[in-house]
Amino acid sequence: DAGETRLDVRDLHAWYGESHVLHGMTLNVGAGEIVTLIGRNGAGKTTTMRAIMGILRKREGAIRYRDVDIIALAPHKVPRLGIGYVPEERGIFASLSVTENLMLPPVTRQDGMSIEEIHTLFPNLKGRARTVGTRLSGGEQQMLAIARILRTGADFILLDEPTEGLAPVIVDQIAASLKVLKDRGLTILLVEQNLQFAAAIADRHYVVEQGAVIDEVANHALAANIDKLNAYLGV
Ligand code: ATP
Repeated sequence: DAGETRLDVRDLHAWYGESHVLHGMTLNVGAGEIVTLIGRNGAGKTTTMRAIMGILRKREGAIRYRDVDIIALAPHKVPRLGIGYVPEERGIFASLSVTENLMLPPVTRQDGMSIEEIHTLFPNLKGRARTVGTRLSGGEQQMLAIARILRTGADFILLDEPTEGLAPVIVDQIAASLKVLKDRGLTILLVEQNLQFAAAIADRHYVVEQGAVIDEVANHALAANIDKLNAYLGV
């Protein structure tokens, strides 16, 4: 069913209190695609993810996942549809070991990835099984955060700046792991400032400015304009 729309966001508005932050965000993600949101700091990329997950409650517009209107759902019901969210701050248990992190909730569905599959996907985590979160490198923490979501059986994953602050060699490892996930049929919506990384893995990109999509860019066009886009983003 490649090409079928998984996530369909239309004319989404969202507010932090009285502050109107999303101004008619419209985007879609097809089954098996990797799509990125790019844009300057404060453009509304993280807010879009929080609004999709229902963590940010004050919203108007339409958010459909498969055929479910998820804007009407309580936030704890959204992951049960197979949608996983890895926030920028990662959300791992710092005082627990890698294995303990992988055994704890959210394990919301039966069809989650096994520990063995996680170790194949992220070999770094295998050697760190007994290491507590605080002693992991930034890259290992990011891998663990993604792994925890894969344990839930999520097949649609929202990833907020997974490469932020990571060394280039680790960024390449995460790119390779995300490509494996795509080959396995997972669908990914990614917030990303590292355009080299985005170009290496994504199919399409949306440019976000002031809480709305202002442009859609095919991956070949992004790859050909990285310097120009970096200047626009100010990175
Ligand atoms: P960044 O990469 O800096 O996170 P972003 O594109 O993800 O950028 P958002 O974090 O979504 O941007 O922020 C969008 C707007 O909402 C910004 O103007 C920001 O100041 C504002 N904002 C973000 N979080 C809150 C909050 N908790 N309360 C009020 N305003 C917020």
